[in-house]
Order: sequence, then C-alpha cells, then structure tokens
Amino acid sequence: MASEGAVLEEKRRVAYLEIEARSLIGTCAGRSPMFDWTVNPYRGCEFGCRYCYARYTHEFMDLPVEAFETKIYAKRFDKALFRRELDRVKLGESIAFGSATDCYQPAERRFKVTRQMLEEVARSARGIRVFLITKSNLIARDAALLAAINRQNDVRVNMTITTLDTALARKLEPYAPRPDLRLEAVKALADAGIETGIAISPVMPRITDSLENLDALASAASRAGAKYLWAQPLFLKECAQKVFFPWLAQEFPALESKYRAQFRDAAYLKGPYVEFVKHRANAVRAKYGLGSRGSEYVPAQMSLFA
Ligand code: SF4
Repeated sequence: MASEGAVLEEKRRVAYLEIEARSLIGTCAGRSPMFDWTVNPYRGCEFGCRYCYARYTHEFMDLPVEAFETKIYAKRFDKALFRRELDRVKLGESIAFGSATDCYQPAERRFKVTRQMLEEVARSARGIRVFLITKSNLIARDAALLAAINRQNDVRVNMTITTLDTALARKLEPYAPRPDLRLEAVKALADAGIETGIAISPVMPRITDSLENLDALASAASRAGAKYLWAQPLFLKECAQKVFFPWLAQEFPALESKYRAQFRDAAYLKGPYVEFVKHRANAVRAKYGLGSRGSEYVPAQMSLFA
C-alpha cells in the first residue's frame, strides 16, 4: 500500500506520500520489549541521521536506503481505528511514540498525525504510560496537550541529543533541529510539568564519547530542567552501515577501519566499551543530580489501593 501512496506534497528534497495503515498502534516485538505498544505516525525520517537504524523499513518496500530520508509516508489518521486500538492498552501499560521514526519530524508540522493521535489519547486514555522520543523542538508545540494527558496518565519525553557541538551535530544529524533548540523544548516541557529526560543515543566511539561532551550535555540537561539522562552506545545494523561507513570515510577517515572492525561480526558493541559508556554516564549523572530513567510510575487508579 505504501508504495502506491498518493504524493501529498513535494519539497525540493523530500516527497511526502500518504498511506492507509491497517493498524496505527503496534505491539512491541522482542523477548523483553521496553514498551507494550508502539506508535510511528510516519515511515521514513527526513532528519537523515547518519547512524539511523530504522532505514530497514524502506528496504521492506524495495526502496533504496537513501529514500528513507527523501520519501516520507504519512499514515492516514483513522480516528475510529486508533480509538479501537487505544482501548486495548490496559491500565499501567506503556505506549511509545517514535520508537522507529521521529514523530515530530517536519512532516508533522503539516499533517499533524502525531497531534491527532495525542488528542485522542487525551480524550480517552486513563492510567497508561506514554513515552515520546524525538530530536525535534516541534514537540514544544504540544506541551499543553501533553500536560493534559499527564493529568490522567504518566507522560515521559525523551529528547535525543548526542552533542552540543552544532557543527558536529549538523554532520551527524544533518536535517534535525540544532541541539540548543532541542534544549529549549526540554525547558518548555519541564515548565509544563512533564518529566523529561535526555537520551544521549547513540554514543559514538571517539566522536561523541569524551567526558567533556557527556559532561556538557548533562550540565545543559540539568539547567533545562531534565530529570534524567541515559546513554546508549552506537549500534549499526547492516542498513545503517551502508550510510554510516561512507560518511565516516569522508568525515573521520582515521576511524573508518576501526569502526569496520568493531562492527564486522555484530551490530552491537559488547564488553568493555559498554561498561565505559555506563561508567561515564553514571559519573555525569551523579555530578548534576540526574536520574537514569525517570521516576517509578504507579497508575493513578492503582495508587488509590497502594
Ligand atoms: S531522528 Fe531517529 S528516525 Fe529520524 S533519521 Fe534520526 S535516528 Fe532515524
């Protein structure tokens, strides 16, 4: 269906298409999923991060890996379908917005699929956990709506920032908002009473893993009102390697062979490097009084009996 979607709008670089989705709320795959349910209003992502792991979603459609950031599919919002699926989310269960692609990417400014879904959550969800992850300051547009949802549910926003160095961020995440704009959004959300954290994800060996970088991020996060911070080492699936390695050869040629060797046999880094990142993240969290994943949540209805 996606490859037949009508072109909604074409910008110089990006074509937007609409798709009819059979389902708008998915279950989370895997043995120990982080969330019970996932929502991804868009397929493809215009931000074009060099390390993006979600490019495989376009490969499913037989599209070249580059099309992931230039052919963006907006799911048509079917209110009745969304409402039916939302009714299946039980008390205390979690639903993650943007688990694959950014739900506040530029397409959202125009099509407002994420906004319409959140409005429905505000109208009908009670006692669920709502996680959002984004790199976009556009989320600040919905601060009041998220605060309304938060009154009956538990909302957490994870803002991804990998570096405060604007020039480096531009290289790594070429079409995403500047880090300082993302921090402004964190402040707006925190001021609206929403528990917000910073995701330093991914942490890239010898590119963004210096103590100075992590310290600067934690310090800025704390000043912006973030409550927690988490860091995750880089992982590179095959679809991501196709974009990341040529970019690395161009921008950091001295690192290319090391990275290729590290990711030759597995997409995930293991062992000492994982511990190294954990150790550094713990150190900067402790220094700035940040938590690791946000406070424990007890659904409002449950807490009555606690
Ligand atoms: S913002 Fe997320 S989904 Fe979008 S390109 Fe970057 S890593 Fe991929």
